[in-house]
Amino acid sequence: MAVLYGGIEAGGTKFVCAVGTGPEDIRAETRFPTTSPQETIARAVRFFQEQQEHLGEPLTAIGIASFGPVDLIPGSATYGYITATPKPGWQNVDLLGEVRRGLEVPVGFDTDVNGAALAEGRWGAAQGLDTFIYLTVGTGIGGGGMVGGRLIHGMLHPEMGHIRIPHDREKDPFAGCCPFHGDCLEGLACGPAIEQRWGARGETLPPDHPAWALEAHYLALALANFVCTLSPQRIILGGGVMNQRHLFPLIRREVQELLNGYIPTPQILQDIDAYIVPPALGDRAGILGAIALAEFASR
Ligand code: ZN
Repeated sequence: MAVLYGGIEAGGTKFVCAVGTGPEDIRAETRFPTTSPQETIARAVRFFQEQQEHLGEPLTAIGIASFGPVDLIPGSATYGYITATPKPGWQNVDLLGEVRRGLEVPVGFDTDVNGAALAEGRWGAAQGLDTFIYLTVGTGIGGGGMVGGRLIHGMLHPEMGHIRIPHDREKDPFAGCCPFHGDCLEGLACGPAIEQRWGARGETLPPDHPAWALEAHYLALALANFVCTLSPQRIILGGGVMNQRHLFPLIRREVQELLNGYIPTPQILQDIDAYIVPPALGDRAGILGAIALAEFASR
């Protein structure tokens, strides 16, 4: 039997489903908007059923990289569920169970950011490393990664976007847009925060606009915290906001200034250009993450 995986990148606005084994080998792919859970999950299951009929054999495994929050605790009654999401209709949805019942193959399940981190570790910017993080800065901010070669789970899963960072309200009176915390990292630095603070979408602001120094400042504060807590060997920054590539040098310089020589590693002191990097897989990290989760599940 040929080894072939299915991947579901389950996003709040769209689902991407693909069949393949890695970045150089995607055999089929489809994408569709995220509507009701019933309709959306059924569409994903149907895609893989058709692929299996076409192949004449079942897929080896399926991986799901999902928006969250999700329940990742094995043995929990709601393991594999999307839980307290603000997305209407998607609270307490048994995403993993529906896919498993529809396809009857092993199914791997994790957060979208842990999936993307796994893919970057397998094929991208974190190859050969066992401790690294992947932070996405877009509509929201989320982080995943590995510590000691294992995806970070713990009590629930990390919510790196919701850490608290210093907020000088005289310099930046914007109150923040996180519905739970106001001015947490996501509330101050996600794409919608940029748009609400400056009254224009980030991609319309020129590189010398003050929005970017402030954005780099908030992200650098967060990264300095992650460097001190997890000691990652590399930090990958993805998501729509990070398509503003001029942010990278600003962030790197400010991380060095914030750490102030205290972390005396070559990565921070000399090679920071290779330490804080964009994803090597670009916007393919999501769906490749799902494929990597399938590969992981089949072991
Ligand atoms: Zn928050």
